[in-house]
Amino acid sequence: MQPVIIDNVRIFDGERMLGRGSVEFAEGVITRVMADPAPRASASVSASTDVIDGAGLTLLPGLIDAHTHVFGVESNLELALAFGVTTELDMFMGPPDATRALCTAAGERADLADLRSAGLLASAPGGHPGVTMPDLPTVAGPEQADAFVAARQAEGAHFIKVMLDDGAHHGMSLPALDRATVTALAAAARRRGLLTVAHVTALWSARIALDSGVDMLTHLPLEAALDDAFVTRTAAEKRVVIPTLVMLEMSTPKTSRSAHMGRSLADDPQVAGYLPEHARTAIAGGHEGLCMGQESPGQHFTHALSSVFSLHRAGVPVLAGTDANHRPDRACPVVHGAGLHAELALLVAAGLTPAEALTAATSAPAAHFGLADRGVIAPGRRADLVLVQGDPTKDIRRTRSIEAIWRGGVRFDREAYGKRAAAS
Ligand SMILES: [Zn+2]
Repeated sequence: MQPVIIDNVRIFDGERMLGRGSVEFAEGVITRVMADPAPRASASVSASTDVIDGAGLTLLPGLIDAHTHVFGVESNLELALAFGVTTELDMFMGPPDATRALCTAAGERADLADLRSAGLLASAPGGHPGVTMPDLPTVAGPEQADAFVAARQAEGAHFIKVMLDDGAHHGMSLPALDRATVTALAAAARRRGLLTVAHVTALWSARIALDSGVDMLTHLPLEAALDDAFVTRTAAEKRVVIPTLVMLEMSTPKTSRSAHMGRSLADDPQVAGYLPEHARTAIAGGHEGLCMGQESPGQHFTHALSSVFSLHRAGVPVLAGTDANHRPDRACPVVHGAGLHAELALLVAAGLTPAEALTAATSAPAAHFGLADRGVIAPGRRADLVLVQGDPTKDIRRTRSIEAIWRGGVRFDREAYGKRAAAS
């Protein structure tokens, strides 16, 4: 593989803007990062090096989406990569053999986003979502927690997802995991070196998650903002939150379609030109897979925005995750890849600076999910890189104006992808 130098480029390293400089990578790994006022790297390179002029551009670490559902659909990982998402963290997929095979393929192929998965999630017998999936193993009580976690670990799960949901948002009243069972699941996972991520969409479930010692909470209640005591404790106990604002936003009614940040993606020419027809249609009008199936009175997206602001201000790490649920035959408006750019804009709307939002999609998920080889532009890290026009630390929407994407040092042929998308 020919070494590459991106020269004279603004570098956001995953934590901060380093300013103008050069980044060199070879054999899939970043070999040199020279920030201003270092001399131009290209002044002394061999003829075999590919030198890219980065004038007017910003180089970012490859984006990480910390909450997705791939459903075994390989094209979802290609769509993700086409929007600069070089790693997806899947929060529920089966069957286990297929999940493991897709994780292996995604690890080896340069044309797909890399993948980590929770595999089968933990839920109560007869609860959501097992009530419609009879083959899904469930957890009836604390005494079954260790065996459940051990089985997922044996299947290759990278972390443990815990479903705390009584079906209310889908118009049902179902049994849910109780505090003792979730506590036992979190403890079993910790003993086995696995992180736990709990699905919480209501205050009662968020409280159980906090009390039970899970590492991460995903989604947020919409019936009220988290109060100060909850936020302070979340920070003190070093929990991490993956809000999935784009999913929550589209799960709550709006008077006009364009009022949704996520829906407006379909009207953005920087995005629409790289979406296959099925994804364009899903963003504009799809309703499948929303985490709130019912429009309940008193559920307000602004509550989630307020919670994100107070969590972030209190020092709780907030990770960018979309809950992308789309697949070609199931039109969920939150699609892989493109959805993360809406999430970034919503994190800024919640009060993060654009640079903090970028950290939430790069170095922070890498650090908190133990992906030590990526998420940061530094020597020795994977050459997962996204080159965009302008400066996304000033205007977060610039993440959509993608010039080039490398995954493990291999450039993704975005032009060809766009042509195929347009023809679909
Ligand atoms: Zn999810």
